[in-house]
Amino acid sequence: MRKCYPGGKTKAFNITYDDGVLQDVPFVAMLNRYGLKGTFNLNAQLMEEEFVWTHPNGMPVRRLDPAIAQSLYDGHEVASHSLTHPYMKDLPTEEILRQMGADQLALQQLFGREVLGFAVPFDYYDDRIAQCARQVGYAYARTSDLSLSYQPCRDYYYWKAGVYHLMPELKCYVEGFFESREELAVCQIVGHSYDLDAEHLWDTLESICRRVSEAKDIWPCTHLELVRYLQAMDAFDGVNRSHQILWFEENGMIRTLHPGESI
Ligand SMILES: [Zn+2]
Repeated sequence: MRKCYPGGKTKAFNITYDDGVLQDVPFVAMLNRYGLKGTFNLNAQLMEEEFVWTHPNGMPVRRLDPAIAQSLYDGHEVASHSLTHPYMKDLPTEEILRQMGADQLALQQLFGREVLGFAVPFDYYDDRIAQCARQVGYAYARTSDLSLSYQPCRDYYYWKAGVYHLMPELKCYVEGFFESREELAVCQIVGHSYDLDAEHLWDTLESICRRVSEAKDIWPCTHLELVRYLQAMDAFDGVNRSHQILWFEENGMIRTLHPGESI
């Protein structure tokens, strides 16, 4: 019996983009056109302050106004990226907890829904930060480490996504995903939508989105949906101990197991 994703799909696909910038507007429109789901990691306080910075190529990068952001991400996941995007290495623990907790609260208030994902700002991550993410009540914490693998990460507080969209491996990694036969294969792309302008990546991302939407075996999901489903599969021991339907394939037939049901 082979484990599958919802709908009997054999693969999962997610794009997770950080910082909540203006280019998220056309990017979300593109995801919507192809029926895909993104995860958007936002800094509540920086959104309030209309923070602008300059990309190394000279392009100004602007954060989204909360009023625009409020309805933009409907159907997608809003996750925390800390309150002000600090480098967390030398912060006292109580400040890390505040950066996580206050951002979660502000985003929940702005969007009127639960915020249960966390993406670490910059590239520093350690056990102490992981403990803070657990303490605040996040369901997962995504680090900047990348796996270049199709196996889903099972360390939810040391989450490694698959590929960063500026890596030269991007096309080859995505190509391999379409061919992959691994159980519960996942392709997760990390980045920032401003790179699509700055690095002329719109066509590349659009062609990936189009191919994912045309594939019959891929489940487009948010990062949180992926984590929740993997946790439900983790707890499976012949009995579905979760609150969601589990999907399997057996001798070419799709079968489902409802909560409480056993094989
Ligand atoms: Zn960031």
